[in-house]
Amino acid sequence: MGRKILLEHANVPGIKTYEVYRKMGGYASVEKALKGMTPDEVVEEVKTSGLRGRGGAGFPTGLKWSFLDKKSGNPSHLVCNADESEPGTFKDRYLMEYIPHLLIEGMITSSYALDAHLSYIYIRGEYMWVYRILENAIKEAYAAGWLGKNILGTGYDLDLHVHCGAGAYICGEETALIESLEGKRGNPRIKPPFPAVKGLWQEPTVVNNVESIAAVPWIINNSGEEYAKIGIGRSTGTKLISASGHIKNPGVYEIELGLSVDEFMNSDEYLGGMMDDRPLKALVPGGSSVPILPAHLIYKNAEGADRLMSYESLSEGGFESGSMLGSGGFIVYNDTSCIVRNTWNFSRFYHHESCGQCSPCREGTGWLEGVLHRIETGKGREEDIDLLWDIQSKIEGNTICPLGDAAAWPVAAAIRHFREEFEYHIRFPERIKNRDHFVAEP
Ligand code: NAD
Ligand code: SF4
Repeated sequence: MGRKILLEHANVPGIKTYEVYRKMGGYASVEKALKGMTPDEVVEEVKTSGLRGRGGAGFPTGLKWSFLDKKSGNPSHLVCNADESEPGTFKDRYLMEYIPHLLIEGMITSSYALDAHLSYIYIRGEYMWVYRILENAIKEAYAAGWLGKNILGTGYDLDLHVHCGAGAYICGEETALIESLEGKRGNPRIKPPFPAVKGLWQEPTVVNNVESIAAVPWIINNSGEEYAKIGIGRSTGTKLISASGHIKNPGVYEIELGLSVDEFMNSDEYLGGMMDDRPLKALVPGGSSVPILPAHLIYKNAEGADRLMSYESLSEGGFESGSMLGSGGFIVYNDTSCIVRNTWNFSRFYHHESCGQCSPCREGTGWLEGVLHRIETGKGREEDIDLLWDIQSKIEGNTICPLGDAAAWPVAAAIRHFREEFEYHIRFPERIKNRDHFVAEP
């Protein structure tokens, strides 16, 4: 069995309640940090662990914490990004729904490290029932003296609020999230300044993903050094993966980074192989924003080395032959999947969710969606593939926030690896209208 850090107690009956969570050793990291460590020592421990941001970017968490401008004279804040909206990603929801106190504990220990006294969890509007679970857990933590004034008699005060978004994907981008938390429209800000310097109310703010914060209690209890021994290379620790698509056992899994993609896909402990034993066609390993991989680049990279579940291995080969671990939204496609339809579906999402601030994204996502739609519905033109390529290349790198790149990359990867499928759609419109989709030669 693989190592469990975050989900170790997920199946303990009643773990959602404070009483059971505490009985299982919960809140020990708060005691250890507040009573025996300075905030800087907590930051150092997280730095040593090598923990990287689990929202998708993989930026080192301890390093981000060390950027916080504690000398600004302004109060600092910790904001947990629970606006999980990346298509294919549902691992934060699982964690908050089943072990809410793990996140609350992580928020307290991390807020202490950052000298924050007012912290927030920003949760997506569609997770209303999880919002209520968190609210209840926060109430329990206040009642037990883990939140509020003079926690454990140490003189440290912390207030924690959970705030519900209104259903916009863009509010998961950290600066849009901050704008939304301030009561404004969720438009991303230009970076720099990064939130660590000017964040919530222009005050120093760290924005961390749910899973990153939930890893902090284990790191403090067991040391950063122990955490760094788990995983592989610079991909330390464990990672939650939300697996969906044509597999036998979809769901949320905690894996030790460095596990081979082959074992994750095919062993009974994890995904159990392809549903109905049909052939594997493609994989999106890290949520809809990352490049799709064709079957021959999934288990092995272009050099023939084993592909591992790690930040480095999944991106080997760059965008020519690799992808990204991203948010861990692992979407598997079998031979019946239409890549054009899937790409159009993703583009429709990005077009709908674009905030409209920058023209390449606002106009470009609309063009991508429109051109993909006409190809998918059998009305494609000979020049459309080049047109798509041109549009995506003009969006990438030319926008305020990464939503532009996220809209461009899946289109580029789909054309790069499945061009013949786009051509088939354009050349045989009648077959496409009859839903007689392209099937590659075995
Ligand atoms: P990013 O690389 O711009 O930033 C990563 C983090 O590091 C940010 O918090 C940023 O403030 C901080 N940072 C980077 N350089 C810094 C510096 N010099 N000083 C201070 N802080 C610095 O990426 P991002 O915009 O935060 O995230 C993009 C990723 O989000 C994508 O890769 C995608 O996979 C993922 N994503 C996830 C979801 C989800 O639901 N989980 C949704 C959309 C996108
Ligand atoms: Fe808005 Fe798109 Fe520009 Fe991001 S890239 S700021 S979503 S228009």
